[in-house]
Amino acid sequence: MKLTNPVAVGDEVMIMMEPGEERNGLIKKILPRRNSVVRQSPRQKHHLHLLAANVDQAILIATIIQPDLKPGFIDRFLLMTEPHSISTTIVFNKADIYQKGDIELYEALQYIYSAIGYRVMLVSALTGQGIEELRSVLKDRISLISGQSGVGKSSLINAVQPNLQLRTTELSDYSGKGQHTTTFAEMLPLDFGGYIIDTPGIKTLSFNYLEPQDVAHNFREFFRCSPRCRFHNCTHRNEPGCAVKIAVEEGEFSELRYQNYLAIMDEIEQQNYWERHK
Ligand code: GDP
Ligand code: ZN
Repeated sequence: MKLTNPVAVGDEVMIMMEPGEERNGLIKKILPRRNSVVRQSPRQKHHLHLLAANVDQAILIATIIQPDLKPGFIDRFLLMTEPHSISTTIVFNKADIYQKGDIELYEALQYIYSAIGYRVMLVSALTGQGIEELRSVLKDRISLISGQSGVGKSSLINAVQPNLQLRTTELSDYSGKGQHTTTFAEMLPLDFGGYIIDTPGIKTLSFNYLEPQDVAHNFREFFRCSPRCRFHNCTHRNEPGCAVKIAVEEGEFSELRYQNYLAIMDEIEQQNYWERHK
């Protein structure tokens, strides 16, 4: 698939500059990428949008409420970082407004994702809870920071380093009619070491560039038992002798993750069907 942008934040490039020129140059070559994070372009659905290149880790900002957590969004996000084994931390913001039920949901998610090796944190940009810990995660690394609009990503970056002064948006202003604060990704240096790559808030993530097998390969816990599936190309849905399904039934894996997996698989099959019958 074609990229909408041949070069992205994080890319290392060779540039040619005219003698005496200090700020302007021509990119002559993009150096080989260690990794990259791509998504289906929200505007041109048959193109890929290169979000960033050469990152050390990804930080997904989420919240349980305001706005409500979209089921499946975390798993969709992980489908962007897993292919390159980019380690991902899931940061739940707005801890200050969680009620009992919200805390229970947070704890359930914390259990699910830490059991499969993701770091999960609870923070508040408003009160400063967890911010020091977040700084230690960011220190000396290049971190892609992403999340759905309104989760408080800009507020958190400002809490981590106040002199960055990113613009924040009142939740009531998320009309969906444009006017986004961040429209392109940018790399910001951290005083205590490291860089963050701030990306525009994400509304939805779709995957018309993936095949069902790609999805199966990127649900990391499935690997533990997929070698025991009867068919080597098992997609872990209705196949007989599927070890993944048995593991879910026995409570070894999260039912929630499995349901999200099935939903993504259905979506991909449907869009592939329509593509092939156009
Ligand atoms: P972004 O779209 O993810 O960059 O979100 P913003 O940083 O612009 O924040 C969106 C809204 O959430 C604003 O009204 C913020 O004041 C609010 N917000 C951000 N962080 C917190 C937090 O930790 N607690 C509470 N209660 N509100 C927050
Ligand atoms: Zn299977």
